[in-house]
Amino acid sequence: MVNPKSICEKLDRRLSAVLGSRIVILNYHHVLASRQDLFNICVAPKNFEAHLEFLKRRYRVLGLSELLGLLKIGKIPHRAVVLTFDDGYSDNYLNAVPLLEKYRMPATFFVTTQHLDTLEEFWWDGIQRLALSLKKFPEKVHLEISGEDCELALGSSPEPTLRLLSQKMYSLEEESRRRLLQELFRKCGVRDEPRAEYRCFSSEELFLISKNPLFEMGAHTVSHRSLKSLPLETQRMEILASKKCLEEIIQKTIRHFAYPFGTPEHYTPETQRLVQACGFKSACTVGSSAVNPDSPLFGLCRLAVGDGPATSFSQKLAECFHS
Ligand SMILES: [Zn+2]
Repeated sequence: MVNPKSICEKLDRRLSAVLGSRIVILNYHHVLASRQDLFNICVAPKNFEAHLEFLKRRYRVLGLSELLGLLKIGKIPHRAVVLTFDDGYSDNYLNAVPLLEKYRMPATFFVTTQHLDTLEEFWWDGIQRLALSLKKFPEKVHLEISGEDCELALGSSPEPTLRLLSQKMYSLEEESRRRLLQELFRKCGVRDEPRAEYRCFSSEELFLISKNPLFEMGAHTVSHRSLKSLPLETQRMEILASKKCLEEIIQKTIRHFAYPFGTPEHYTPETQRLVQACGFKSACTVGSSAVNPDSPLFGLCRLAVGDGPATSFSQKLAECFHS
């Protein structure tokens, strides 16, 4: 006779074996309360703490370098996750780091270096600020993007057009992005004043974070352009200069890299080889898959985390483990 209990135990062991060979790398951006989040990149500090509380109870949180060591020997602990943060926002220092320290959780911060020590916002945060600034946008605005006249339909629901505009700026040089945004603000009749709470790390904040052995810094290029569209030499400059800049500030070797925008349409196999040739040990992407011992070290997939309580977070995490 078949014993249902033994079947359940067998299934549970098989599930554990599957889960045990997988790990989910989580990808956060801002840890900041936001009124309207056009790009779904802000997690409110209270929700972030709920995520950490949940992880503390149910999962083991590893550092990225620790994960690499375990991947090499094919030994992934059961129910393990890695925490990463992209872009280098000061709110990571002010809001995320104290909570990570409270829960004693390791994390890696991938930093884009161009806005360090400035009050400037990334262009996508500038676009989000514009979306928040006006109740009624002009129906149409004309902008010149890469030499072409583009008509932007804004009006009463500008969000889809503004998201599209952000995508058109993925490959542009920083100066072109800045000019374009200034022009857009001017045509919409809004004053262009960056918000201090959206600024990037200062060198001092970077240095202070890096002193804690729980935390690692990783490179995320100089100007956060889509690497695939750039000549290889420009890609090399973006990758290597961000590494050197961070190493100079924290006085430690930078081992890990994350591709800007992260999905496969923003890098190529040549980019991956270039990252390796620049002396990195791993590179992270963005997607919805868990990592296993067969995952390529220069294509480690991460799950982007949006705002929400522990319930929706835990569901998304479980889905990724089973993907
Ligand atoms: Zn990024």
